[in-house]
Amino acid sequence: MQTNMIQNRLLSWYRKNKRLLPFRDRTEPYIIWLVEIMLQQTQVETVIPYFNKWIHQFPTLQNVAEAQLSELLKLWEGLGYYARCRNFHQAAIIIQRDHNGKIPEDWVTFRSLPGVGNYTAAAVLSIAYKLPYVVIDGNVKRVMARILGRKKLSPRNMVMINNTLNNWIDKENPGDFNQAMMELGALLCKPKRPNCTVCPLQPNCRAAAAGYPERYPRKIKKVIRPHYITVGGLIWRKNRFYVQKRNVSSMLGGLWEFPGGKVRTNESLKTALKERIKEEFGITPIIQKKIGSVEHAYSHFSITFHGYHCKENGKYLESKTEHQWITPREINMFAFPTANHKLFNLITEQGWNV
Ligand code: SF4
Repeated sequence: MQTNMIQNRLLSWYRKNKRLLPFRDRTEPYIIWLVEIMLQQTQVETVIPYFNKWIHQFPTLQNVAEAQLSELLKLWEGLGYYARCRNFHQAAIIIQRDHNGKIPEDWVTFRSLPGVGNYTAAAVLSIAYKLPYVVIDGNVKRVMARILGRKKLSPRNMVMINNTLNNWIDKENPGDFNQAMMELGALLCKPKRPNCTVCPLQPNCRAAAAGYPERYPRKIKKVIRPHYITVGGLIWRKNRFYVQKRNVSSMLGGLWEFPGGKVRTNESLKTALKERIKEEFGITPIIQKKIGSVEHAYSHFSITFHGYHCKENGKYLESKTEHQWITPREINMFAFPTANHKLFNLITEQGWNV
């Protein structure tokens, strides 16, 4: 099939079948960039309410640059992969400071900004500025592996995929071409049961011709994620409890949490909680009551998180970390990890009176 025929079939399918999303067909580079970042490792349906809230509060990139990181993290709360939010804030500041507020149009400058990898650079530059960079996400890899009949996504086959896409990309509408490929992967060429009968690329697809297209590319065995038992304590002082901000360079950096840590082998939950708090603050808390436990999965591990109500043991807790003593009503003023919120929900069900 000729390249222009592939483009025509693909783009005409896309224009008829693309999902109507609040950010679809927006052309502002800021919006396109924000959406691409929010969509990394995250489902479209999850992103939509976050996008709507964010854009209402921060309609321009300048608003983002001028915001406090804590405000942004509060809006990002629950979306996960918080480094995306921190990097976006940093990049927005750099753009105001070094680029007169304009998102750079050249690859090298844009790619050098915090959090901008090859995928983000290609997506933003092709959609916002119509530059002919191909976007290769997980969906596009799967579609192309099937079209080219490649079972492995080896470096050699990735070069072949990249070269083919560079040959096929519509130089007039690179953004639409890229979005069409991603949409095809999301709507038709799904991992299981691809809908080949209505696929605009079916005449050109080796996997469909060979039968069993779902066998391409071969699945990579999932790495088993470790599971940890963790424990945390709400340390009460009168009607307030202690929360601290996580180091910005750590996982979940910039979010607030209550203290605790991992339970070591052969440690009881209560011993672990007392020890982790003693290691951090030098005082052993009095454990009053168990709140309960919640499960949570992160990208590389999962946890069972046990929570307890505690109080100081007569000595005041002193902390060098940025911290606050807050009332339950003030929880909404801070961004907390989802596991902490799950525990807050348990307490709300039980009542906040200890
Ligand atoms: S024909 Fe089937 S396997 Fe091939 S790209 Fe289309 S949906 Fe995917």
